[in-house]
Amino acid sequence: MKTEKDYIIVGQGLTGTLLAHALLEKGKTIHVFDNHHKGASSTVAAGIINPVTGRRFVKSWKIDELIPFAKKRYQELEVLLGAKFYYPKNVLRVFFSAKDENTWLEKTGAPHLEKYVLETDDLGAFEGKIKTGVGIGEIQKSAQMDMPLLLKKSKAYFLNKKIINVEPFDYQQVKMGDGVVFYKNIKAKKIIFCEGQQGRNNPWFGHLPFEVAKGEVLLIKIPDANFDKMLKHKLFVVPLPDGLYWVGSTYDWNSTDDLPTEKAKLNLIEKLNKILTVPYEIIDHQSAIRPTTFDRRPFLGLHPQYDCLAIVNGMGTKGTSLAPYFVQEFVDFLLEGKMINKEADAFRKQVY
Ligand SMILES: Cc1cc2nc3c(=O)[nH]c(=O)nc-3n(C[C@H](O)[C@H](O)[C@H](O)COP(=O)(O)OP(=O)(O)OC[C@H]3O[C@@H](n4cnc5c(N)ncnc54)[C@H](O)[C@@H]3O)c2cc1C
Repeated sequence: MKTEKDYIIVGQGLTGTLLAHALLEKGKTIHVFDNHHKGASSTVAAGIINPVTGRRFVKSWKIDELIPFAKKRYQELEVLLGAKFYYPKNVLRVFFSAKDENTWLEKTGAPHLEKYVLETDDLGAFEGKIKTGVGIGEIQKSAQMDMPLLLKKSKAYFLNKKIINVEPFDYQQVKMGDGVVFYKNIKAKKIIFCEGQQGRNNPWFGHLPFEVAKGEVLLIKIPDANFDKMLKHKLFVVPLPDGLYWVGSTYDWNSTDDLPTEKAKLNLIEKLNKILTVPYEIIDHQSAIRPTTFDRRPFLGLHPQYDCLAIVNGMGTKGTSLAPYFVQEFVDFLLEGKMINKEADAFRKQVY
């Protein structure tokens, strides 16, 4: 039976999920295809939103706009889907040298960072359970978002509306017409690819300059820990809503597969043993490839030759904060003809 939809979305990771909800809210008809989240970065991510990052404590790109936008968006979806995803949680940063601590004091005194940092020397629930360095700093307005739960609840919502097929998208079945595109029995205005790192295999967008990074993580139990904040030590230790702790992660810019490795696991354990002074139990070891790009900015836009094909991808290491904002930017472009930020234009490398 032939059917007509406004848009086909390929991929129901964080990006495709947010795009699907945004288009439905605008009254558009959609159909989503997702291959069981196979290799999805969103199912492995901690969902950390952190305004001050890196060894030099720099403010994340556009974070003043991204955080309020993301918070509002996730809270709207909490209401729609009847579940809790967004948890404001401070980040405790441990310093291992006087130099690091001095840099922190110097950087975080600057007016553009002031609102994100707290003066503190309180380890709270971590007291006596972690190895301390020479000092600590605390970041506020940070958060943790339960990405796997958002995906699961959204998938159930789309299944209930019969607007998702859990199967691989077959590029061979795409037929382009005049201002329309056909995929199997569906006629649509556009196909929008939100495939994460698997977008590198896409016949129309796979040549974009992705520079992906595989990451491996451990999920652990720490009896009686009750950590309420996120800890940035040798690794991140993040309390998850289900009582487990997310520990990660590694960065491998050369890996050709997304499988967990013994080497990375041992590396994570070695570092974790330098963090915790209490026993823990490893529950799981996971890995995925981050959809990172050459300049760490997203890829949004239409295919230059086939404008019935579009991409929303490249959320990299910071999808939790970037995706709500840039999905909205893409929707405004698609439905209202607004310009896409040059820095997020999928074809900027050729455009510049
Ligand atoms: C170890 C690790 C830790 C991370 N931690 C954080 C963090 O703390 N904070 C943060 O902001 N970000 C983090 N990230 C990054 C974050 O995961 C990504 O930015 C974000 O999840 C990307 O979402 P996406 O939907 O674009 O891609 P994905 O999550 O990869 O989703 C793509 C979806 O498309 C589907 N798909 C792809 N191709 C096809 C096809 N041909 N047919 C059908 N379906 C298809 C896949 O199955 C998948 O479900 C982390 C990533 C990793 C790997």
